[in-house]
Amino acid sequence: MNICQSCTMPLTSDKAYGTNAVGTPNPDYCHHCYHDGRFIDELTVEQMTERCLPFLEHQMDVEKARAYLAKKLPTLKRWNVEGKKPARE
Ligand SMILES: [Zn+2]
Repeated sequence: MNICQSCTMPLTSDKAYGTNAVGTPNPDYCHHCYHDGRFIDELTVEQMTERCLPFLEHQMDVEKARAYLAKKLPTLKRWNVEGKKPARE
């Protein structure tokens, strides 16, 4: 399953994808994070963690969710220093 490379949201349908500047779907990011070729919000990884927690709390307790995000977010393209390249078109 694809997940958003910014917030971990599952990309389960075409509508979940963000859009590139040219209007095509971006395969890496969801529409909450990415729109018209740019990130909607400039966030730090800590801010993103706080933003994701309410969604994960449905599935696990908050400490587990926090630990999951602390491990998961740095591996995603947006937060991975190695991978700080523009999103694929
Ligand atoms: Zn996202």
